[in-house]
Amino acid sequence: MENKVSFYNTLTRNVEKFIPNEDGKVAMYTCGPTVYHFAHIGNLRSYIMEDILEKTLRYVGYDVKRVMNITDVGHLSSDADTGEDKMLKGAKREHKTVMEIAKFYTDAFFSDCNKLNIKRPDVVEPATNCISEFIHMITVLLEKGYAYEAGGNIYFDTSKLKDYYVFSSQSEKELLVGVRDDVDEDENKKNKSDFVLWFTKSKFDDQELKWDSPWGTGYPGWHIECSCISMKHLGEYMDIHCGGVDNIFPHHTNEIAQSESYLGHKWCNYWFHVHHLNDKSGKMSKSKGDFLTVSLLEEKGYDPLVYRLFCLQSHYRKPLEFSYEVLDNMSAAYDKLVKKIASLDQNGSVDEESFKLYREKFEAALCDDLNSSMAITVLYDMLKADISDSTKYALAKSFDEVLSLDLTTAHAKKQENSGVDAEMEAYILEKIEERKAAKKAKDFTLADAIRNELLEKGIVLEDTREGVKWKMN
Ligand code: AMP
Ligand code: ZN
Repeated sequence: MENKVSFYNTLTRNVEKFIPNEDGKVAMYTCGPTVYHFAHIGNLRSYIMEDILEKTLRYVGYDVKRVMNITDVGHLSSDADTGEDKMLKGAKREHKTVMEIAKFYTDAFFSDCNKLNIKRPDVVEPATNCISEFIHMITVLLEKGYAYEAGGNIYFDTSKLKDYYVFSSQSEKELLVGVRDDVDEDENKKNKSDFVLWFTKSKFDDQELKWDSPWGTGYPGWHIECSCISMKHLGEYMDIHCGGVDNIFPHHTNEIAQSESYLGHKWCNYWFHVHHLNDKSGKMSKSKGDFLTVSLLEEKGYDPLVYRLFCLQSHYRKPLEFSYEVLDNMSAAYDKLVKKIASLDQNGSVDEESFKLYREKFEAALCDDLNSSMAITVLYDMLKADISDSTKYALAKSFDEVLSLDLTTAHAKKQENSGVDAEMEAYILEKIEERKAAKKAKDFTLADAIRNELLEKGIVLEDTREGVKWKMN
């Protein structure tokens, strides 16, 4: 099939045409969440944009197989193998077992994904399911001389590689060695950049999950899990590996080091990274305590899909700053958009030529380094164009295969939930217009009477900067 998708490959530092190993098929891997706490909306930005990538590939005709791990062991509080195991930290915080914490937050993660219309990957595999695969890969790395035992732990020897810092330019490489200066030095390491494949000497006597291994009872390092889980389900050659930009170093750098040393050949051709969502004080993180979640947005009255739209309106390679003000604007824009689509008359026939023209424009935006905001502009242009309502409706439905904003169903769902049917809504809108006119004519008695009339029917009016809004009492 024709390869027409391009996106930025962190490995080659270029926007590249994507060409999979096998014609028409894509093997895609995503680093999953560390399930010791709720995902914050920053984490979910990464998963939303990866979802857009997967759905774009499917939209243009690829058969995608997507695999995701669940990190339920081995991720320490510092990515450089020091600090406490994050899962244990979660278990202590909530006085539960690690496995109880893992189950609770894995379910919470997929519930958030569901609310954001993020498709569940074809395969989801918790790290604790794959201990024998980790032991096998580490055994081979030891046999091949890429790993060594020190102080009871097994380390990867980065000095055995010609180019360990594959993602960085020369000047960045010098800086990266320094990244580890601020963390406790592990004296077992032969080189500063070496990393743990298997821990037996945890600093914590109460490490809850431990397994037997040829090197003693212990648990795997974080990086090994993604190499093994992806190979288990996608084989020795992978097309696309995804994650947030913080994964580039050390996580993905270490994944490449151990996978290619194990395989003896190149492993993954394209690396797709999503930039961070920040709040005003900087990068969002779970350890900051008071972090933004989907549930919090819902409590504040936002539809989670408004957050999805917020993410789609900016480019995945740019940092994005979260603000309620922008989210409010998105909310108003979303309501208007789905209402407009719901008002389209679906009864006519679809004009195939116009359909093809706008579908091509939409695809072109996404194929151009996943320009999701341009894809939304195409949607708006299409809705304004001089084409039939039923063609517009068919196009909106088609675009939603990628955008996943419930474009053709959200308005009806909202009405159903509010207990207000189309006739009632028309009546409310008419009353709002009458009240506006009364206020303009300074007839405040009439304006108040209209407000009260609606209130008796259980409808509350709110005057906002975007105009008058109504809701059920
Ligand atoms: P974690 O659960 O910490 O392993 O992270 C899950 C995913 O979220 C990873 O792909 C991270 O790179 C990504 N991530 C972490 N923080 C942010 C952020 N502030 N904005 C966007 N993505 C993030
Ligand atoms: Zn990973």
